[in-house]
Amino acid sequence: MQALDMMKIERNNKKSGVLTILLLLLIVLFIGSVSLSHAEEKVSKSVSIRTIVIDPGHGGYDTGGQGPGGSIEKELTLNFAQIIAKELKPQYTVVLTRNGDYQVNLMRRASVANHHRADLFISIHVGGGSRYQRDAWSVFYYKKTDSSEGGMRPEIIFRESVEDLQLNWDQIQLRHQKESRALAGCMKTQLVGHPDIREVTVAGMALRVLEGLDMPAIVIETGYLTNPKTEKQLNDVSFLTDVAKRIKKGIDIYLTR
Ligand SMILES: [Zn+2]
Repeated sequence: MQALDMMKIERNNKKSGVLTILLLLLIVLFIGSVSLSHAEEKVSKSVSIRTIVIDPGHGGYDTGGQGPGGSIEKELTLNFAQIIAKELKPQYTVVLTRNGDYQVNLMRRASVANHHRADLFISIHVGGGSRYQRDAWSVFYYKKTDSSEGGMRPEIIFRESVEDLQLNWDQIQLRHQKESRALAGCMKTQLVGHPDIREVTVAGMALRVLEGLDMPAIVIETGYLTNPKTEKQLNDVSFLTDVAKRIKKGIDIYLTR
């Protein structure tokens, strides 16, 4: 072989060597970028904005309870839900099951939350009835009782449509019972610390509004509307804003435990 040919071969070898190195570099860069994008995905998932569904009880022809001063539950629940939403919005995605005075059946309320894959569902109601003069708030989570009908609070299923009463839900909420109970506990701790809330009870109950929800869910019953002091509080925006801040804190603590 002539010297010239030898040089050509050497040059070719050098060329293919450089090409191999370049190819290896490209592979390394590709693998790096793929694993990086996976890591980014993990990070973005862990800090993704949580979705909270707030459910103002009643609406439309379903007025709910009425206070001695004429306050109507469906109006109080919507007003309070909007105040809570305002407190939550800087940090969370907030969805209300209704934004005005119209009837929303229980199936629709649950499907809104399930459709949005909400992280939490909080329904707002006010207790009432001639027997309820107590000065106390309640936080309910779903608990199946031996006799579901007997365990239901009539106030909460009050005047729901026939369609609702015929629902055969699979009681999905049972899967989240432990978490819902923990959420109720976090909420009680915050609410009971308010100087103008005398007592907060936590109880498990077979509430229809909760049974079809596929996420931790509670009902907050903001005292008894038949109690004049409670009625006054529920019309006081600064009181409600204070309580809404506490509800937000309860959510923050629950979600970051
Ligand atoms: Zn109600």
